[in-house]
Amino acid sequence: MERASAYQNRIKDLQMSHGFDEDRESSNMNKILQQKSPTSKNENDKTLRQFGNSKQGSNVGNDVEGQKDDFDDLIMKEKPEVSWNEVIGLEDAKRAIRESVVYPTKRIDLFPLGWPRGILLYGPPGCGKTLLAAATAAEVDGYFVNVDAASMMSKWLGEAEKNVAKLFAMARKLNEDENIPVLLFIDEIDSLLGTRNSEVGGEVRVKNQFLTEIDGINNKSKESQLYIIGATNKPWSLEAGFLRRFQKRIYVTLPDYASRTNLFNQYTAPLKKESSFKPMELAKLAEGYSASDIKDICQSAQLKVVNELFESGKAMEAEANTRDITTADFKEIFKKRKPSLGIEMIRAYAKWSDQFKAL
Ligand code: ADP
Repeated sequence: MERASAYQNRIKDLQMSHGFDEDRESSNMNKILQQKSPTSKNENDKTLRQFGNSKQGSNVGNDVEGQKDDFDDLIMKEKPEVSWNEVIGLEDAKRAIRESVVYPTKRIDLFPLGWPRGILLYGPPGCGKTLLAAATAAEVDGYFVNVDAASMMSKWLGEAEKNVAKLFAMARKLNEDENIPVLLFIDEIDSLLGTRNSEVGGEVRVKNQFLTEIDGINNKSKESQLYIIGATNKPWSLEAGFLRRFQKRIYVTLPDYASRTNLFNQYTAPLKKESSFKPMELAKLAEGYSASDIKDICQSAQLKVVNELFESGKAMEAEANTRDITTADFKEIFKKRKPSLGIEMIRAYAKWSDQFKAL
């Protein structure tokens, strides 16, 4: 039933964007917009996009514009500025990435047998998969193209196969035109497999399209600097055909004790804290917490003292500042915030990793 109603909604959206039940007024509007001089094209685009996004006007956009919106909305292309040092811990992962992405971009002549282009990052959420991929792109001064496969499957329902092809074409073109490395980062890559292997959902076709595209990247000329980095929190749902195409499979783990200490140091560095502040003690309490949890905890500590300042009514006075954050403040936050991952899940990741990792 869920699937049927998703289809019905999708059909409605497509009908709207293809102008099926267009009334006379909006059709005239469309013509007027299309007839505007080419110099004002950007303006047109903007107008169409605004209409396309608003409920009552969603039938105004033309075909191409409608698809472009869908496509562009889900893809983020950027040149990130994350430094390698900002990624705490994950030494194995960093080493594997340095070997397969960073070194080949610096000394291509040392790799006569080629090098891996497909990398799978797996592990619990919030441990740095995205961050690591972004830092890699920054390290090689390349583009980071970030797509979320889960929203791709739901938003592109019925068109996902075509858009997957378009996505890879775009990445290839970017790499060829600008001659710099392109890292295509696909988050939640397990959603490409869908929940059912039924032809009805088109998932089989999407998956095959995807596998063909990766093969294309793996077999490309030696010089190509196009990489595909897949990320997943559910590695066990990937099948063999998928795994085989990712020559490097890297476990992005929960932070260990030393990393947790470093995370507390990094994220409290800009905060005003008491001189006896003890990050190591906090790192002990934070066993089982993800890096992202730790960042949130540090943020909560700052919010706590800011809140106190406002509550005291003195926040707007010149020179007024927050009191120093104490280790006890953190302990209080810990009481209210449990780790997001249970021991069972941690075991499941470790078990899968033992069986399938490829560093
Ligand atoms: P994932 O992709 O594994 O779900 P993210 O990379 O999106 O996790 O992490 C979310 C945020 O948590 C990051 O933007 C960063 O602020 C913080 N974070 C996660 N892992 C690390 C790490 N290893 N070192 C430093 N910060 C981290």
